[in-house]
Amino acid sequence: MNIPMVDVNAQYRDLKQEIDSAIAGVLEDGRFILGPNVNAFEKEVAHYCGTRHAVAVASGTDALHLALRAAGVGEGDEVITSPFTFIATAEAISYVGATPVFVDIDPRTFNMDPDAVAAAITDKTCAVMPVHLFGQPVDMAPIVALCEQHNLKIVEDCAQSFGAQCLGKKSGALGDLGCFSFFPSKNLGAFGDGGMVICDDDTLAESLRVYRNHGSYERYHHSLIGYNSRLDEMQAAILRVKLKQIDRFNELRRRNAHIYSETLAGSGVTTPLEDGKGLHVYHQYTIMHERRDAIHQALTDAGIASAVYYPIPLHQQAVYKAHYRDVSLPVTESVVTQVLSLPIYPELSQSSIDAVCDVIQNAL
Ligand SMILES: *Cc1c(COP(=O)(O)O)cnc(C)c1O
Repeated sequence: MNIPMVDVNAQYRDLKQEIDSAIAGVLEDGRFILGPNVNAFEKEVAHYCGTRHAVAVASGTDALHLALRAAGVGEGDEVITSPFTFIATAEAISYVGATPVFVDIDPRTFNMDPDAVAAAITDKTCAVMPVHLFGQPVDMAPIVALCEQHNLKIVEDCAQSFGAQCLGKKSGALGDLGCFSFFPSKNLGAFGDGGMVICDDDTLAESLRVYRNHGSYERYHHSLIGYNSRLDEMQAAILRVKLKQIDRFNELRRRNAHIYSETLAGSGVTTPLEDGKGLHVYHQYTIMHERRDAIHQALTDAGIASAVYYPIPLHQQAVYKAHYRDVSLPVTESVVTQVLSLPIYPELSQSSIDAVCDVIQNAL
């Protein structure tokens, strides 16, 4: 048996004609940077997410970094975020000279605990960066209320949650700035790197456009030190084809997740919770069990991929731990020893899901 974590080629096979002709169109047109496809894709994403602006950048990491720059976060500021996420979330905070403040998570949603956010606010807090981990929307209502009360910016890390919903809005549209990644394995994946920041504010959008293009408001006039961080036309052309399918892809992910949860009911593993506060888009399908390593081994032996996202919380990573010696986040520290993500993608078949569940049930 061979069941991978994701099958990035399946979508190409599905959409081959349209994608091939989109790529050929870019090659024939000859505009490769900030051309018509990037323009159109920005408008389409803004429309999809219900925001006034969308600014395309080179990666999800850059989206987070430039969003913090545009929001004016810098040296001496504190940004509250989750320790249970990919390193890029915290890297972006460190890039601008600010300090990540890690708060504990809810053990059932894996997302930042709003009470812990409230307890972590200080005079130096400048922004909160919720991460909609594994496609599950963060419980945003209390966080939005806190940030209004304390005048804090919200920069959402939506790298794993394109198309998710919360409080009747698309993920990314609830905060001041929402940041997406189009890394190939993400729900909306390019054939290379890519990212996007969405926002409603005209000044923030203008600032993002300047930062991504060498600090330039006008060609060869540079008013600040910016970056070279643009989405290229080829990726934008491909992403435009896939954007039309994103709701269908996310629906198939949800269907597969529900098949897993029904099949695994009663097996002893903890299956993902849908808290009813938003629409989960299952970037990952992540179970928990005390004998996680045994399940992982049994799946590996059967030729089935599975992965631990993430084995080490950020406050315990080599790069950060010296600064967080006194920080104890017990829920996160326990969750990382139990989580296991199973294969999930729109094209995953019912028989593959059954096979994965069989191996898990036998292992226990
Ligand atoms: C993938 C990811 C990023 C970074 O995106 P890139 O496009 O790879 O730079 C940031 N945060 C989270 C939670 C991610 O999963």
